[in-house]
Amino acid sequence: MDELDWVSIKSGLLEMARKRGAEVARVGDPALLEDAEPGLRPSDLLTDVKSMIVLGGAAPRAAEWQSPRVEVMETVGTADRMAALGSSVARHIEDTFGYYALNVPTSTDENDKAFLDFKAAAIASGAGSASLAGPVLDPTYGFLYLTVILTTLPLPVDGPLQEAACPAPQCVEMWDEKGTTPCMAVCPIDDGGCLGGEIQEGLVIKRRYNEEKCRDRVYHYWTPGYQAALERVLDEPDARKRKMILYGSFFTRTMWSITYSGVSQGQCFECIRACPVGTEQRVLI
Ligand code: SF4
Ligand code: SF4
Repeated sequence: MDELDWVSIKSGLLEMARKRGAEVARVGDPALLEDAEPGLRPSDLLTDVKSMIVLGGAAPRAAEWQSPRVEVMETVGTADRMAALGSSVARHIEDTFGYYALNVPTSTDENDKAFLDFKAAAIASGAGSASLAGPVLDPTYGFLYLTVILTTLPLPVDGPLQEAACPAPQCVEMWDEKGTTPCMAVCPIDDGGCLGGEIQEGLVIKRRYNEEKCRDRVYHYWTPGYQAALERVLDEPDARKRKMILYGSFFTRTMWSITYSGVSQGQCFECIRACPVGTEQRVLI
């Protein structure tokens, strides 16, 4: 096929993904991720991979962001809708063009590691840029869930964004006035939170991040908590105490989270709630 065919195949695929719910659809060069550690390289997942399609979407709805009950947001964050979309795009590629297409699992591999660095894939394809808070941010939509399809289809690549979404102009202003930004103000690393850093000449520098603490909040009701509670139950000789653990609210909420969600269920959004990038999408009349 000549170059024009690849261009129209690419636009057809991305258009299909958008029609099915992706807010952002881009193509990146998987070679940009090949210096990742062994096991996390695109070619470790799909031999002869030529392109990676990155789709972003399924962000919480405006009403969910607006809800005064923070517990609502603790239950709606999940990547499963994007994973389903990625699988259907991958199937379409294989059925229609006869090229391999693998929707990268959004669950974790050995040692609780991801199969691929989704963030790096999104940045390499321009499906957002890195942020001080952590998630990749699209300049228009802000935080989105991601799915990555690796394929042997040689699609033309989009490449990284020219302008980063973070820090937003409001954050630069806030930094100049108060020495902090909205995300750092809600989760300050030096005061019980997870985020720190500075802004210099419009760029984030010296970023600090307490990953362990953040992970505990984002995945509070999740597999590690379930494992820890189970261990305590197995070690607990007192039947009454065992019952309290198993039927208590932590274990019950954890079971709901695990059994009624897809993968990558986030439960803390406070830094992104404060982040101005994409706020237009969260406020309706
Ligand atoms: S997700 Fe929650 S815990 Fe993690 S950095 Fe943001 S506000 Fe802090
Ligand atoms: S609030 Fe958002 S845009 Fe501002 S510094 Fe934090 S992550 Fe970046």
